[in-house]
Amino acid sequence: MVRLTNSKHFGTLTAFFLLALVAAFPSLAFAQTKPSAAAAPKTPAKPKLVVLLVVDQMRADYIDKFLPQWNGGLKRLVDEGAWFRDAAYPYAATETCVGHSTISTGSFPATHGMVANAWWDRKEQKMVTCTSDPDPNVKNIGYGGATPKGGDTAWRMTVPSFAEELKFQTGGATRIVTFSLKARAAITMAGHKADAATWFDGGAWVTSNVYGTLPFLEDPAKSHPAKADFGKTWSLSLPESAYWYAEKALGAGPPEGWELTFPHPLRGKSGAGEPEATFYEQWASSPYADTALTELAEKAVDELKLGNSKGTDFLAVSYSSVDYVGHEFGPRSREIQDILIRLDKDLANLFAHLDQKVGRGNYVVALTADHGVVPIPEDMQTTGADAGRLHLPEVQERVEKALESLNYAKPVISRITGSDIYFAPGVYEKLSSNSNALNAVLDAIRNVSGVAAVYRAEELRDRLATQSPAQRAFAYSFFPGRSGDLFIVPKPYWLMDSSPLGKSRSYGTGHGTPYNYDQHVPVLLMGFGIQPGQYFQPVTPADIAPTFAALCGITLSSRDGHILAEALKKPLVASTTSKSVGPERTSTMAPKTNP
Ligand SMILES: [Zn+2]
Repeated sequence: MVRLTNSKHFGTLTAFFLLALVAAFPSLAFAQTKPSAAAAPKTPAKPKLVVLLVVDQMRADYIDKFLPQWNGGLKRLVDEGAWFRDAAYPYAATETCVGHSTISTGSFPATHGMVANAWWDRKEQKMVTCTSDPDPNVKNIGYGGATPKGGDTAWRMTVPSFAEELKFQTGGATRIVTFSLKARAAITMAGHKADAATWFDGGAWVTSNVYGTLPFLEDPAKSHPAKADFGKTWSLSLPESAYWYAEKALGAGPPEGWELTFPHPLRGKSGAGEPEATFYEQWASSPYADTALTELAEKAVDELKLGNSKGTDFLAVSYSSVDYVGHEFGPRSREIQDILIRLDKDLANLFAHLDQKVGRGNYVVALTADHGVVPIPEDMQTTGADAGRLHLPEVQERVEKALESLNYAKPVISRITGSDIYFAPGVYEKLSSNSNALNAVLDAIRNVSGVAAVYRAEELRDRLATQSPAQRAFAYSFFPGRSGDLFIVPKPYWLMDSSPLGKSRSYGTGHGTPYNYDQHVPVLLMGFGIQPGQYFQPVTPADIAPTFAALCGITLSSRDGHILAEALKKPLVASTTSKSVGPERTSTMAPKTNP
């Protein structure tokens, strides 16, 4: 404010803008300021810290089902926050990299370009992950002496994250710190540059050299590395009668070394005797990984004094373990129920820590998920519903066969990954001018069990207007050049499976379709500027970044989301004028809805 009043550019327009903001958020504006005699309008207060929490693969209905068993952080979000009960991704590519990029940028994959966790690079003729950076100067670096491979950045994300915009637009005082087990989560939540983006690889915490390093992470990396949890056992937290589902999840595929039933020992391969790859897989599938992420976040708050600088800081944590557990044991499992009970406790600790170090009401937090998950097909079949496994190698086999007699060189398909089919160079162009051959291909795909429809790239371009929810969903995740040539739409409750021909799958279930079980996720906001309550209007996780931007007074360049206005503390009525805007007056007029 001082800076502004001293500026010769402090004209009526600026004054009007500030007044409008004060009018919009009166209780925010003066919650932290003492009344003073000066009548001049004050810059509205901003949150000291923005906290983004993503629970990887958390279905929205987990809250409806398990809330009565929680008494920690998840419950606090529901009790003290704004709970959007009809939040869903509108697009088809419900995968981790896509979801995190959508949350962080406030835009859909057709805009941000992160169309999958990995896709077929036509130029390189190979699969690339969403964060792999071919720049030879980019190198991942490890804490505690680790030497990770590769180099990962957000260079493929075509728009800045909310956190980047915040730092850029507010003079650089913002610190950006993110944590996850997954690079594609930590990196996309942070953006192209950040003070720290930390993930887990090969048993160690790592980052890449485009991000800053946190010297204080050397200490936990050495004193309490993941391997310190070797020999622990994940047991049920509550008496057996508290669990909804059978002891063994039907169709589950647990990690190596684990049975289908509790307890789950973290001892790696049987007889390994020391931490190795199997142990780290078990650890990542256990509540101990969530606790480790929580402790790192708390350490960052302490060491960097996040929320205590002159700017608004940004802290994000993506909890990956619910995703691993969901893939292995499915959504209807004791494992999912129990890991959420444990996460609820971790989040209680995190919020208590933030209350103490940043101050209750000084930070705003959002919790959401990057996608949901489909029930395990064998489990779903017990209901009598049409469910099964859409075997992607079978799609390839049938397409190759359909073109055998039509003078196409094998293989005609370079890759099928998720819904996307990528043809070998030149093949799709040739097919496009030969309707007989194209129809043979489309028919071959439609005849595979579990296929509901096939779209062509031309049917998804330019975000066409369409009445078909599935076609619209694929259009929202279509990015020219990166997306496939054809798109397989599975039937509901059919799992797309890439296990090689003749091999049974080694996991329970998955996600990545335009159906509500994959799209419907929680959106919860709590703290600074948030009006508690339950909200039923349809929203998307792309609405979180614009809402954060409104609270912080910044502008996002390209967004598909909207401000969740219903969940913001209500503005004063029109009687507010330049004369009436003062701390004394406002403090009596501010609605007392969220003390
Ligand atoms: Zn995910």
